[in-house]
Amino acid sequence: MTGTASALWKNCFAMRRLKNTVAMILSAAILTSSVPAGAEGRIVSKIETDERIVALTFDDGPHPRTTAEILDVLKEYGVRATFFNVGENAAKRPELTAREAAEGHEIGNHTFSHINIKPLSPEKVKKQILDTETAVTDAANVKTTLFRPPEGRIGEAGERVAEELGYTVVLWSVDTRDWTHRSAYAIAKTVTDNVKDGDVILCHDFISGESHTAEALRIFIPKLLEEGYEFVTVSELISKKAP
Ligand SMILES: [Zn+2]
Repeated sequence: MTGTASALWKNCFAMRRLKNTVAMILSAAILTSSVPAGAEGRIVSKIETDERIVALTFDDGPHPRTTAEILDVLKEYGVRATFFNVGENAAKRPELTAREAAEGHEIGNHTFSHINIKPLSPEKVKKQILDTETAVTDAANVKTTLFRPPEGRIGEAGERVAEELGYTVVLWSVDTRDWTHRSAYAIAKTVTDNVKDGDVILCHDFISGESHTAEALRIFIPKLLEEGYEFVTVSELISKKAP
């Protein structure tokens, strides 16, 4: 091989390698395209925005009574929300997870067995997230991209695993404390007294014992609509973040 031919061959090889690298980067970008741009691997509890938008979120379901009741109220007011499913509940009640998706709500991932992930190994955290992802996909044919750790406890391993799996970690900025069985009025007052543009409101569509959440929605949803608020899903909220 002459000097020129050998240099040409080397250049060709380098080009092919470059092309492969570009293709790999492009396909990775396509795979993560369902995650809002710039939101990967960060923890979101609210967004800065000038728009009058809020995201209503429900944790711990689906549950046959409460989830169905909440879905009925949301439908009545034409409001969409985000349901952070517990995997084992979605596996037990796939028809409710399917209903959530069919009615335009977003479905997030809240671990499989509602476990505090902070002390868990990265492998165990990964299994909790992926088993839930499978349960939700089997039920509603959608892939979860938002992760909310139980009780908001994430830890370093949890953050790393969520990022590796392409998830955005979502906490909240308004806590209704509906799980304490407080009255519908008290739940609604927490929302109406504290809500601001870009907030993420935390409610539960499953608590053990009596729930006043659906009743509280009937108080604060019409009030917020009247004040000009628009309810969006968490992914929509993140996508509207001011630059
Ligand atoms: Zn929870």
